[in-house]
Amino acid sequence: MGVEDNFKFKGRRRILALELEKKGITDNKILDSIKNIPRHLFVDPGLSEQAYLDKALPIENNQTISQPFTVALQTQLLDLNEGYKVLEIGTGSGYQTSILNHLKLDIYTIERNHNLFRTTTKLFNKLKIYPKKFVYGDGYNGLKDDSPFDGIIVTAGSPIVPKKLLSQLKVGGKMIIPIGEETQVMTRITRVGESEFKKETYGNFKFVPMLENKD
Ligand code: SAH
Repeated sequence: MGVEDNFKFKGRRRILALELEKKGITDNKILDSIKNIPRHLFVDPGLSEQAYLDKALPIENNQTISQPFTVALQTQLLDLNEGYKVLEIGTGSGYQTSILNHLKLDIYTIERNHNLFRTTTKLFNKLKIYPKKFVYGDGYNGLKDDSPFDGIIVTAGSPIVPKKLLSQLKVGGKMIIPIGEETQVMTRITRVGESEFKKETYGNFKFVPMLENKD
């Protein structure tokens, strides 16, 4: 890919950021990360022409890279500043991770599929993206030893609210999770007290399912 392609993709990222702004993404730092992260490198080269459309695309192992609007919305709902500690469940292509990285958060991320874990590890090295921890494991367990987290972002559809994840949130921390089976309701759960949680919802989405165990 040459200089011209880079120029072309940069232009497309600016247009995508404007589109997301119109759809309700108001955080300039997030829009800035959309303008900077080369999403075309997170998909198969054959799909790079589609990388800056606001749509989900297939990645390895029948999974998907989430739609840019969904990534931006989940990030906005997290509402975290530089240096805060975030746990991501479902690293997938690593695009969401890269947005969190651009926002200078402390990232812990878990992927259950070994092929994706391997491919994305290589991509992170190539792009010099260094999460605090990138773990091959089952996100339902979270990362107890590294908890509590200021934020938890789940990027696969979960039929239930995983109890272990709730217990790894700081008081005041927020979990953004799509809840449901066939379709999911984007949900923000804030831990307002030691055992007190507040729930808010943000519309319907369609994610690949959050599965148990590794493969
Ligand atoms: N944020 C990613 C989304 C990928 S799709 C991106 O934009 O590319 C969801 C991902 O969650 C898939 O990679 C899938 O393998 C992973 N996943 C599903 N269940 C999981 C679990 N229990 N723990 C960790 N990862 C899981």
